[in-house]
Amino acid sequence: MAEAPLQTESPESLRPGDLPPIRLREADRERILSHCREGLPYEACGLLFGNGREAIHVVPMRNAARSTTFFSLDPQEQLQVMEDAREAKLDLIGIFHSHPVTRPYPSRTDVEFAGFWEECWFLIASFRREDEPELCCYRIIGDQIVETGMEVIAE
Ligand SMILES: [Zn+2]
Repeated sequence: MAEAPLQTESPESLRPGDLPPIRLREADRERILSHCREGLPYEACGLLFGNGREAIHVVPMRNAARSTTFFSLDPQEQLQVMEDAREAKLDLIGIFHSHPVTRPYPSRTDVEFAGFWEECWFLIASFRREDEPELCCYRIIGDQIVETGMEVIAE
């Protein structure tokens, strides 16, 4: 979602490194970026399932909003995917979406949305430089945005 500057004033500010990075296979990182690229010029989105901080199953999803500045999950699709994950004994650990033209940093709208997803890593792919997409990873706790980074593994 398009960005707006954010301020955090909590006395117990979290800092980079306070929360561990998500662990992601290189192939899944590529899957996220290619799904987001295929979605251009619209925002694209998807979910990550796994155990702890280990992403095991990455699911590209439909952007039901079909917008260049906004995404929303299709409730039916989400229900189905969540049910499949429950059967596979995987937890919802992350959500990704793209910023077609802005930097890979959570917008105010993203932070409001993230209230329901505090337990999840929040990945944002930016295509502001289309040839060099960027993928950044955060946790959003209250109104605090903490960049966690990603541990990308070969297999
Ligand atoms: Zn966004």
